Amino acid sequence: MAGGGDDGEGGGGHLKPATRLVTSGRRAEWTGIPGQPGSVVNPAVWRASTHLYPDVAALNAGKPNADGHFYYGRRGAPTQWALADALTALEPGAAGTMLYPSGVAALAGALLAVLRPGDVLLMTDNAYEPTRNIGRALLKDFGIETRWFDPQDPDAFKAAICEKTKAVLLESPGSLTMEVQDVPALSAIAREHGLAVVLDNTWAGPLGFPALERGADITVMSLTKHVGGHSDLMLGSAAAGERYYAKLRRTAQLLGQVVSPDDAALALRGLRTMGLRLAQETATALALAQWLEAQPEVARVLCPMLPGSPGHNLWARDFSGGCGLFSFVFKGGDGAARDRFIDALALFGIGYSWGGFESLITPLDPAGIRTATAWPLPGMDASDRFGVRLSIGLEAADDLQADLAQALGAWRNPA
Ligand SMILES: *Cc1c(COP(=O)(O)O)cnc(C)c1O
Repeated sequence: MAGGGDDGEGGGGHLKPATRLVTSGRRAEWTGIPGQPGSVVNPAVWRASTHLYPDVAALNAGKPNADGHFYYGRRGAPTQWALADALTALEPGAAGTMLYPSGVAALAGALLAVLRPGDVLLMTDNAYEPTRNIGRALLKDFGIETRWFDPQDPDAFKAAICEKTKAVLLESPGSLTMEVQDVPALSAIAREHGLAVVLDNTWAGPLGFPALERGADITVMSLTKHVGGHSDLMLGSAAAGERYYAKLRRTAQLLGQVVSPDDAALALRGLRTMGLRLAQETATALALAQWLEAQPEVARVLCPMLPGSPGHNLWARDFSGGCGLFSFVFKGGDGAARDRFIDALALFGIGYSWGGFESLITPLDPAGIRTATAWPLPGMDASDRFGVRLSIGLEAADDLQADLAQALGAWRNPA
């Protein structure tokens, strides 16, 4: 869904990100009626499958394949256009943004847009498990082979490229093990070999990492996480510059991708406070990561904002923000102790997902997922294998720290 960038109302490329979070996607014609444009703050929820035409001549007139033109429900209506427009306005270098019913659907849509039977996809070994499954199952069934490479080794990536390689999937930082990748360097290598660079940028989003400016061709987000922000919706997005946007759009339309206007309206609501939430969650996460690092029960904290975390220097060089998602690994212990720790927590929900206003925790077990690199990571002791992944919400840092402290007691002592 195109928009933003060059439009006068929603784009505002000269404005700071915090201001664009407030102004974007609110074109006057989407927030009012003819004669009274811009009468309300937010676009209405347009529930529409059929779009009506004044006469047959209008029905038969070719409709431009761009947002802002009524045609049929699958192309969306102002609610979805406003969300896509807002996301485009937040993404420097984007020609447009497509919306998908989930982050996984966005990743599948982006990869199908740039790969054809016989091609090889290179995928970073720290990728989200369902993303790996897209390679292992969906792409495989279409005759596309996926090979995995070490996220922190640009030379290994370069060596893995062959004449059939047509795309690379990056995830930085990896959403389990948190290695930050050298996206500019990897993208430069990819460009030399004519590969399309697809980046899963869910962790930082455009506020923390302007993906297209840093070298990615297509940047994907699970809007389920920070944009939704309230653990009540599933959506995904993929944005691209001029070179890839038409392909992305064509593939999404052929796949019949469309999102509900109710979910789009919730995502727009979430977007308005995303900057504040991310800043608060990042500050709390960093404070807790520093505290955890000093605890005798903790072997390694994997948090991109923390010096010593894998790729922290790249985070410091390339990122202007973080988020509340990080992991840590216990010093020794076993799976039962780790599970005791999780069960003892009172303020952390146990469940998948992240980026909501409330803190969450899940066990961290990357060993069975990775294929190109080892777990524990280089430099870690082989007995330090059991970890957890935390998504820090908006609770007071002191309360979360006290909860983690009492749960470390449960880790040490079986009841
Ligand atoms: C959650 C997640 C996804 C998938 O998003 P859904 O909206 O759950 O489909 C993709 N990538 C990363 C890094 C994620 O954490």
